[in-house]
Amino acid sequence: MAKTKVTVAYGDGIGPEIMEATLSILKAANAEIETDVIEIGEKVYTKGISTGIEPKAWDSLKETKVFLKAPITTPQGGGFKSLNVTTRKTLGLYSNVRPCRAYHPFVNTHHPSTDMVIVRENEEDLYAGIEYQQSADVVQSIKLISRPGSERIIRYAFDYARAYGRKKVTCMTKDNIMKQADGMFHKLFKEIGKEYPEIEQDHMIIDIGSAMIADRPEMFDVIVTLNLYGDIISDIAAQITGSVGLGGSSNVGRNYAMFEAIHGSAPDIAGKGIANPSGLLNGAIMMLVHIGQGKVAARIQNAWLKTIEDGIHTGDIYNAQTSARKVGTQEFAEAVIERL
Ligand code: NAD
Repeated sequence: MAKTKVTVAYGDGIGPEIMEATLSILKAANAEIETDVIEIGEKVYTKGISTGIEPKAWDSLKETKVFLKAPITTPQGGGFKSLNVTTRKTLGLYSNVRPCRAYHPFVNTHHPSTDMVIVRENEEDLYAGIEYQQSADVVQSIKLISRPGSERIIRYAFDYARAYGRKKVTCMTKDNIMKQADGMFHKLFKEIGKEYPEIEQDHMIIDIGSAMIADRPEMFDVIVTLNLYGDIISDIAAQITGSVGLGGSSNVGRNYAMFEAIHGSAPDIAGKGIANPSGLLNGAIMMLVHIGQGKVAARIQNAWLKTIEDGIHTGDIYNAQTSARKVGTQEFAEAVIERL
């Protein structure tokens, strides 16, 4: 099989450690990929490039159309743009898919049958970046919701549910308050839902929806929601399954796709060799499915699951009662490789 070229960025903080671990597993599994490494994040911001991505990196992305990205540290304060937002908008990555499932009884969780997928609109809403100082005391930040953007993500969620044999799609909005913006999203959900009669569908106001995710996550299957709500509830959902270190995510658009861990660069544990590479590995598994290497993806996923089941755990999910061995990042990767 010809190798598929993918763009890779090692990122900041724990990024380089978890990327090395992930790529070592992909290599050992004979994934047919060739990597083109680009620089993003702190090193680029400190060169004075406000987007955090070198201009020539876009050439690589234009060529490969597939991006495996480690987390970066977002600089605080004005003058810098969020690299994640820039990448999603420039590449038109309108859908963000974040599967969150429990690995009971191997990873401690109060919600053993959690298995949900959050489909988040990825380009619009308050993340459109339309903010300005109205007066000395007032800043205005605009929430942008479009009909095509909403239709696209709602359809994506239903198509995803159909393709993966999921039974229910729940829409979450705050249309009791934002009657126009969230109201349109909810209305389109009801309209488009008619095209998918075999899928159960319901709607929840985001505040009670978030509370239910935290308390009874097992009641959810696929959730479709706006950008900001999706960002928040997917961290809640990942955390209650055991650790933010486990979740991977895909950001997919018409022409490009980006795969990453859901967590950030974890500067508090960077350089210690203890980070869990599972989130990025799960992102890389989604990437392999996307580029048509489903068999390798399944092999890696099985080896990863077996590692977790064998109780070989990094510190974030280690539990003296249920884990067998506490390992560092590279040792965890080696354990996965042994189980391929
Ligand atoms: P974080 O996700 O980096 O860390 C939150 C907590 O989870 C920390 O205690 C950390 O040690 C732990 N953690 C995260 N990933 C882990 C892993 N793989 N293994 C073990 N423990 C893990 O969130 P934060 O501290 O709020 O953000 C740090 C930086 O990351 C910020 O600059 C933020 O802007 C950035 N960030 C980047 C992305 C991205 O690049 N996609 C996403 C979120 C946050």
